[in-house]
Amino acid sequence: MNARIESLVRPEIRALRAYQVPESAGLIKLDAMENPYTWPEALQSEWLETLRGLELNRYPDPKGLVLQAALREAMAIPDEMGVLLGNGSDELIQMLALTLAQPGAKVLSVDPGFVMYRMIGLFAGMDYVGVPLQSEDFSLDLQAVLAAIERERPALIYLAYPNNPTGNRFDADDMVRIIESASGLVVVDEAYAPFTDASFLGLVGDWNNLVVMRTLSKMGLAGLRLGYLVGPPAWLAEIDKVRLPYNINVLTQVSAAFALRHKAVFDAQARAIRAERSRLLEALDSIPGLHPYPSEANFILTRVPAGRAGAIFAGLKQAGILVKNLDGTHPLLADCLRFTVGTPDENAALVRALGGTPARDG
Ligand code: PMP
Repeated sequence: MNARIESLVRPEIRALRAYQVPESAGLIKLDAMENPYTWPEALQSEWLETLRGLELNRYPDPKGLVLQAALREAMAIPDEMGVLLGNGSDELIQMLALTLAQPGAKVLSVDPGFVMYRMIGLFAGMDYVGVPLQSEDFSLDLQAVLAAIERERPALIYLAYPNNPTGNRFDADDMVRIIESASGLVVVDEAYAPFTDASFLGLVGDWNNLVVMRTLSKMGLAGLRLGYLVGPPAWLAEIDKVRLPYNINVLTQVSAAFALRHKAVFDAQARAIRAERSRLLEALDSIPGLHPYPSEANFILTRVPAGRAGAIFAGLKQAGILVKNLDGTHPLLADCLRFTVGTPDENAALVRALGGTPARDG
């Protein structure tokens, strides 16, 4: 290797592989928890009208105030709480790490969980502490989390609610115990909020170490890249200091604000995805050898017969369907694939390719 790279790039960065996104052209895309539905045609035309006359020679509004107001209204964000926008929630995770990193500062989360908590912590020089979930149902091991908090004193704790890649939602009382026991900042990551009925958003002022992170990605706007953090203004004022100027571009600001004014469209899509989730779960469950886990998100984690995950993944790809193979990523995910809930036709194709019978219509 180039000696200069070796001496200048930190060993932990050199040891990494850049984030891999598989080629998906021409495939049914059930790998990335996207909403499979686009906008009704009338809405598309109306949206295009809002783009007419935008001045791309000017920088965007640095704080995205019109968009913030649209978010507050659409998501019923408590008035006294602050809002901070990110280029996807990934950027918010990065801002949190940049704000709280210092020698010895740690990030804690549960495993298996969303990998970017650990990765971005590492980028910022923070050590990661991962507490295993319970093996039978991926619920929190509360005693183990509390013991790790006591032992490691993490500056930053992430809990995804519901969790990715397992799809379950942790017990709310356990979450509260963790918030109340933590000396650090607790981030409840509600990326999958459109697909579940519980949320900490309305409670965010109840503790001075709680912030709630959301994204528009899973709701149906992954292409816009917009995440938002809701929490006590004093916390957000600190995190805002590491935000890059103009992090939310003009097209995203205008398009997201427009979409939020038509949130009913996305709510209807989320309802359709939830109904499909039940049908897909039932169909997967009736395929011999498959063990799908119940989900509060827009994907279903499924255990397949031992040693078969790679072959099933490859077979699905051959059949034109891209899913996520999690086998080998964590001991609790051995023989596991993750299927994003798609349209009824896409889900039927998945079930057929797995050798099952798609759920009947209706
Ligand atoms: N949090 C969780 C739990 C996720 O699963 C994801 C995406 N897979 C994200 C955050 C990041 O979402 P985005 O950057 O698109 O907002």
